[in-house]
Amino acid sequence: MLISTFMSGEGETIFLANPTDLPLPRVPGAPHPLTDFRLFHMRAAPRCLAKTRRGTECQSPAIKGRKRCRVHGGARGSGAPKGERNGAYRTGEWTGEAVELRHSVGVLIKAVRAVLDDI
Ligand SMILES: [Zn+2]
Repeated sequence: MLISTFMSGEGETIFLANPTDLPLPRVPGAPHPLTDFRLFHMRAAPRCLAKTRRGTECQSPAIKGRKRCRVHGGARGSGAPKGERNGAYRTGEWTGEAVELRHSVGVLIKAVRAVLDDI
């Protein structure tokens, strides 16, 4: 269960399993009660580690499912095409599917050996 903490308007820390459990009423003119909750999760997002021209890490939020931000190659449609359309493609031996298949066969062989050792 995900438990989130954030500061209420009165400065006290609130622990919630579900943000919809929030007991705070909406105050006109005040920030939305969930603002701190949302900002907490936005700040917790994985960061882009691309090296900038200053030599530091970018630190912008990485795109979901990617390791880099939108500027540093995380944008949709960026990157080389998969499979035969990729310039480095030769025989298909090193495609993601082929590597994953070999890995899962290795795991299966290991499990079978463990069972056979018990017999
Ligand atoms: Zn970046």
